[in-house]
Amino acid sequence: MKLRPVLLRGCLSAIAILLFTFRLFAQESSTAPEQLRPDARFKADVLVVVAHEDDEVMIAGYLAKLAQDEHKRIAVVYVTNGDGGGNAVGNEAGAALGQERQMEARRALASIGIENVWFLNQHDTPNQNVLFSLGHWDHGHVLGALVRLMRITRPDVVLTWLPDPVSGENHADHQASSVVAAEAFDAAGDATKFAEQISPAKNRTGMSNLTEGLLPWQPQKLYFFTDAYEVFTPYWYDAKKQSPFRKNLGEGTGPSFAMTETSPSRHMSYAQIEADEQTYYMTQEGQLGVDAVKAKNFKTFEFPVKLILGKSVVGGSVTGDVFEGVRTEGVPFKPVHGYAAEGKRGVTLEIGDPWRFYSLFWNAHDLDRMAALIPVPEMEADYGEWLNVELRACNYTDHDAAIDLSAELPTGWVDHAQYKRYPVRAGECYPVTAMVSARSSGDEKWDELTWTATQDGHSVGSVTVRVFVGKVGSMPR
Ligand SMILES: [Zn+2]
Repeated sequence: MKLRPVLLRGCLSAIAILLFTFRLFAQESSTAPEQLRPDARFKADVLVVVAHEDDEVMIAGYLAKLAQDEHKRIAVVYVTNGDGGGNAVGNEAGAALGQERQMEARRALASIGIENVWFLNQHDTPNQNVLFSLGHWDHGHVLGALVRLMRITRPDVVLTWLPDPVSGENHADHQASSVVAAEAFDAAGDATKFAEQISPAKNRTGMSNLTEGLLPWQPQKLYFFTDAYEVFTPYWYDAKKQSPFRKNLGEGTGPSFAMTETSPSRHMSYAQIEADEQTYYMTQEGQLGVDAVKAKNFKTFEFPVKLILGKSVVGGSVTGDVFEGVRTEGVPFKPVHGYAAEGKRGVTLEIGDPWRFYSLFWNAHDLDRMAALIPVPEMEADYGEWLNVELRACNYTDHDAAIDLSAELPTGWVDHAQYKRYPVRAGECYPVTAMVSARSSGDEKWDELTWTATQDGHSVGSVTVRVFVGKVGSMPR
């Protein structure tokens, strides 16, 4: 059958209109929906990274001021679950205590307006060597997990413990939490670090996702607080423990916040808010808070909260406000200096770990201000207590060398050195543990100890450390 020409034209026109309509429709549906933004419920202005459930008590008055009076968004990460601590009120210990401490932390933080709380579930490791804590934790896993949380919370400011050995509680977990915080600060914005976290998810609403769909994030300012005895807190406030050899590390190194001021929203002092926050930690030192609240005496909570500026990628003054210079729109990735070969020469004596680690770490992570805080290594000893001081006899020449070590100790100290001479091959360092015991009497005060290295009777280097001798903490050393 043949169509008549008029009918054929009519059919072709109808097809053309259909095709045109289909094209229009196809063009309209070719526009993709808008990209989703990072989940705003988890955005933090300040991310606090600490080791144990109750570490934040020392700065809780300041955190309450930020969260409840300045309406800043705060998130807190606890790296361990506190399973190594004691229990002041119950039989629960170890993993059971860890579970209870996490709940204490949730309640304590809720009391000051903080709901976003994360736990990395590492083991609490009571000791004073940061490298032991990092080794006992799964360092790489913790770093990846913290980088993930920085990319989720997108903090402008990171607040953590001081990465430096101090005379004080000097808990190595505290230092280790700050080491991973500083590492994550520098890694979260780097698209080559933990790249699986920032590759787009392939099927967001389905079950075939391969990667995490986060975005890189560069935090802007890094601040520290410390458990050094010289920065007073509800736990310690004895002026005798302050080193006479140098400036107080808490003075002029960062902003300070008065705890005697009244919170406009809570109608009580920040000191009282801090004492109240501590009452949630009954397995720990919660009783200090309970006693203060009962007696309405918040004197020991009234010491100002002192922060130490670690670094800023957006400028601002050292003692200015934490948010000075912060750009709400975010900042581009800021690469750090990184590790470089040290290029040393000759035969010499050096301090060993953890002090050596820190001098390399601060340099690599652009924490240049840290070296001046405690220019000579410090530690503490109870009367008569044995101390191990790690040294390195180093030979950076191309000939083998014999290095002799001798100790110059204050009255009453005893040198327990096993060897005097160390054979050090060309290009190597010999790790030496110098063993001494502290004087068993005398005033509570600071002493100086010096080890000198000689080669063929000539001095080639020395290491001095300063030790507070007196009634000190119980942390295993
Ligand atoms: Zn702690």
